[in-house]
Amino acid sequence: MEVVSMRRADVPAVRDHAVVLGAGIAGLCTAAVLTRHFARVTLVERDQIKGRGTDGRGRKGVPQSPHIHTVLTRAAQQMEQLFPGLIDQCLTGGAVSAELGSQSRITYHGHTLPQRFAGVDGIMASRPFLEAQLRERTLQLTSLSLRDDAEVTGLVTDGTRGEAAVRGVALYPRGGEAGGEVLEADLVVDAMGRGARSGAWLEEMGYQRAPEERTRINVTYASRHFALPPDALGADRAIMIGATSSQPRGMVFAAQENGSWVMSLHSYGNHRTPVDDEEFLDFAATIAPPDVMSELRRAEPLDPIAVYRFPCGVRRRYDRLKHFPDGLLAIGDALCSVNPVYGAGISLAAREAVLLGECLAEEGAKPLARRFFSSAHDATYPSWWLSKIGDYSLLQDGFSARLLGSYFRRLMAAAASDPKTASAVLRSLSFVDSPLRLVRPRILRQMLHQPISRRPETAAK
Ligand SMILES: Cc1cc2nc3c(=O)[nH]c(=O)nc-3n(C[C@H](O)[C@H](O)[C@H](O)COP(=O)(O)OP(=O)(O)OC[C@H]3O[C@@H](n4cnc5c(N)ncnc54)[C@H](O)[C@@H]3O)c2cc1C
Repeated sequence: MEVVSMRRADVPAVRDHAVVLGAGIAGLCTAAVLTRHFARVTLVERDQIKGRGTDGRGRKGVPQSPHIHTVLTRAAQQMEQLFPGLIDQCLTGGAVSAELGSQSRITYHGHTLPQRFAGVDGIMASRPFLEAQLRERTLQLTSLSLRDDAEVTGLVTDGTRGEAAVRGVALYPRGGEAGGEVLEADLVVDAMGRGARSGAWLEEMGYQRAPEERTRINVTYASRHFALPPDALGADRAIMIGATSSQPRGMVFAAQENGSWVMSLHSYGNHRTPVDDEEFLDFAATIAPPDVMSELRRAEPLDPIAVYRFPCGVRRRYDRLKHFPDGLLAIGDALCSVNPVYGAGISLAAREAVLLGECLAEEGAKPLARRFFSSAHDATYPSWWLSKIGDYSLLQDGFSARLLGSYFRRLMAAAASDPKTASAVLRSLSFVDSPLRLVRPRILRQMLHQPISRRPETAAK
């Protein structure tokens, strides 16, 4: 279906109505925030999601659904702020909670961290389960209405080209060419994920597209769920082994809701992705420790192998645009999407939604878009850079990447031999503390004590 931007000077300005495009994690969090600031909020979603309850099935609009989605401490705190009691609701529904410092085995750059309490919690459940819990809470909000099975095809604008404001959206029933309609709104928020359309729509309205920053990563995920009890690996609830420059593949094996575990394998570059049972197990065996492999080999697979390719991290710099239409915002992956290996997307989406609420409550002198994009940029900046540095350190392409690689390897070597450094690493990589803590004198001293290895690192098993 074609994207149409409709100019409708005759559409009367509507008051107090916000429209959120996309009912993924960012869309659901944003819709919940907006119900506190607008009399009516409409959530538009291309997939059919009404009546799905909390059955936890994936859906077409979220192809990343079958892959691991851990909610880290920060994300859990932001979500609790938006939906009080949500974490208890998830745990009651069967999600697994773990303190990742002591209840998981983590290996970065070939160095295994000591298992010690670090104050980093993970809520572990499948993405469809998490989304269903959030959706259930969002749809209970009385001023919210859902338009699902509906595709947004363009914006309704008002005013001259290059100065137009957004006044609503054009909708069609999914896959249909008839039955289109206009939803008028004071604010439209694009939460349509990585494939968001705001950039193209801006151009059609005579504005500039936001400059895009990209980090080419070329990482491919292959994931599958297995029936296993939470204590299949004793007290450990997750095993994470990161890729190394000499073995650019990694894995996360993690307990999930209701007696299941997910094995998410990933590899950098153009490697063949496992497509059948045997290939999946063979690939896993190149990374996973023996106890994980023995559980995997005897566990019953619960779903087919799912593959997801993630070519690059993308950050759209709306904060840099001098001119931006009133009535439009972008949020979540539509704004900034980092390498999923770092598990930051949900934290960022929830944080941006909270910031949007704060911007709406403040009513500053500057336009909403300017204030929101500036605070969202500050919020996404640490994750963007941390993942960029992590990726560069693996790809080893060019002088600065090699330098960063050597910094990261020494940092991980220091973490493997010193529990305090390990805790600082884990807390920073999980966004509990600022990444700047990783350049504190104590940690730098620990790093200096590490022997310089010229041998290529290998992933520890
Ligand atoms: C393999 C993988 C693993 C990940 N693991 C983690 C993890 O462990 N932890 C973590 O925090 N994050 C993780 N993430 C990131 C996470 O999925 C996202 O960052 C987060 O869900 C925010 O996404 P979003 O809501 O902005 O977009 P999405 O979740 O992509 O949702 C976009 C929504 O918009 C809808 N839509 C699209 N186009 C239209 C249209 N034209 N009209 C109407 N609706 C439309 C789609 O159907 C969808 O519902 C992972 C990502 C990937 C790819």
